[in-house]
Amino acid sequence: MDQTRTPENIRHLVLVLGDQLDADSAAFDGFDPASDVVLQMEVMEETSYIPQHKRRIAYFLASMRHFRDELVARDRRVRYVALDDPMNTGRFETEIARAQRELRPSRTIVLEPGDWRVAEKLRRLPEAPEMRADRHFLCSREEFATFCEQHPRPVLETFYRAMRRKTGLLMDREGRPVGGAWNFDAENRKAFGKNAPPIPPRPSCAPDEITTGVLRLVEERFADSPGKIGDFDLPVTRKEALVQLDDFIAERLPLFGTYQDAMRSGQPFLFHSVLSGPLNLHQLRPLEVIRAALGNKHAPLNALEGFTRQIIGWREFVRGIYWQRMPHYAEENALDADLPMPKFYWTGHTDMRCLAEAIRHTIEHAYAHHIERLMVLGLFALLLGVRPYDVHRWHMSMFWDAVDWVSLPNTLGMSQHGDGGVVGTKPYAASGNYINRMSDHCRRCRFDPRQAVGEDACPFTTLYWNFLDKHRARFAANGRMKHQYINLARKDVAELRAIRRQAQAITNSVV
Ligand SMILES: Cc1cc2nc3c(=O)[nH]c(=O)nc-3n(C[C@H](O)[C@H](O)[C@H](O)COP(=O)(O)OP(=O)(O)OC[C@H]3O[C@@H](n4cnc5c(N)ncnc54)[C@H](O)[C@@H]3O)c2cc1C
Ligand code: SF4
Repeated sequence: MDQTRTPENIRHLVLVLGDQLDADSAAFDGFDPASDVVLQMEVMEETSYIPQHKRRIAYFLASMRHFRDELVARDRRVRYVALDDPMNTGRFETEIARAQRELRPSRTIVLEPGDWRVAEKLRRLPEAPEMRADRHFLCSREEFATFCEQHPRPVLETFYRAMRRKTGLLMDREGRPVGGAWNFDAENRKAFGKNAPPIPPRPSCAPDEITTGVLRLVEERFADSPGKIGDFDLPVTRKEALVQLDDFIAERLPLFGTYQDAMRSGQPFLFHSVLSGPLNLHQLRPLEVIRAALGNKHAPLNALEGFTRQIIGWREFVRGIYWQRMPHYAEENALDADLPMPKFYWTGHTDMRCLAEAIRHTIEHAYAHHIERLMVLGLFALLLGVRPYDVHRWHMSMFWDAVDWVSLPNTLGMSQHGDGGVVGTKPYAASGNYINRMSDHCRRCRFDPRQAVGEDACPFTTLYWNFLDKHRARFAANGRMKHQYINLARKDVAELRAIRRQAQAITNSVV
């Protein structure tokens, strides 16, 4: 659909990238329907610079096409370049230049892109667009930079408290945290045991004609891409995302905190919100999501605080870190990890039950919840010594919600400790015993999480001790790892030698 055949009197060309689907964003400030035109582009380069899960491609394209229709319904003219348009040149730079040539706008405008790579491309254009700050986020890049000046070693907890004070969320009239504490983590670590409550089903968003067309296109053009489309049920409009939000708040939020860290076979979603996609594409706004959650008077404080922390704490914090540290952040590799991703991450073909399960969730849904990402998928790569950027690339390929500003600090920083302690002050290193405590996987697995050596030894446990041993010089003095090193010190020389040998054998067998 191109509503812009006549070039006369075009004032502003407003670019809308695939993760900027908010009709009230700053890019539209001052928009004049009579003289301004929106440009949306489906470019091949963005779907092929890394292999991408079919569901992720379909989710982005279907959301963009529905957003186009939303704009048109608001009387905004849209030049929409579809992937299969014969004139499509396949790259942002060339499509923007083509539109500028044909429409001759006096100015091109775009919201600051969320991806450093894309922002650089646009900055280098001969007619570079005006970039407007993105008010979707509650902490601007400038505010975060000031926070870092005040806190040269920024940590999530300090940032989160500052955000609570700034927004007034979960604060009482005297400026104290509601409930007398800043966090309720101790209540939020329950495993999903035998007597756990039933998990309410999530509402499904049935594909309409537009989405069905996209699904067909993806099956045809991306047949070799990883992952499965399956029964596509993702929210592709703001309206559908709001339905998902309401359902989460009514049905799953009350137990969100309690089972936040739990894992269960065959249950990818548990009590999680599954809202990261619509948030990252800007179909939902963080403040409206939190306010809606806080409106549930039946939800306990541990759930409300836990959910608030994820969105105004972690989500804003990792974005701040990303923009503070790019572009060199992508190259950081503090632990000198140099192995490639094991091939089974693409197929799930492994005897390690926890990994097979988390990868299955990922292949089928383009989703795994936070603890599966951090303490199974990420943990194994960390203990093995995979290059952090490669873990990020795999993540960008496989998850529906993956965008650079959030995936990179979470994978390279939080899960792989590649930044040497910026996102987290210690590595998230654990043995199979942690997975055993938080899931039902080990009881169905051929390995034994308590054993580090021998035929039945759990590879996580072997690699865990090997990791502590290998990085002793770096971490032994870290106060937060004191107990881990006290336990390592209990191992005698012969056992450590056997662990090192077994760790090497595991490495040889998986890469
Ligand atoms: C290795 C790794 C990679 C990750 N990559 C991404 C990614 O590419 N995109 C992404 O959105 N999230 C990413 N995360 C963060 C988090 O795992 C997902 O946001 C979350 O699992 C999405 O599921 P949900 O919507 O059900 O989240 P919930 O558990 O319901 O949490 C609510 C919301 O809080 C936000 N949130 C929670 N934790 C984080 C976090 N650590 N960083 C940023 N936001 C957070 C998300 O917007 C999420 O929707 C990653 C985490 C790890 C450990
Ligand atoms: S025993 Fe080890 S490999 Fe098997 S499920 Fe448990 S943690 Fe995973």
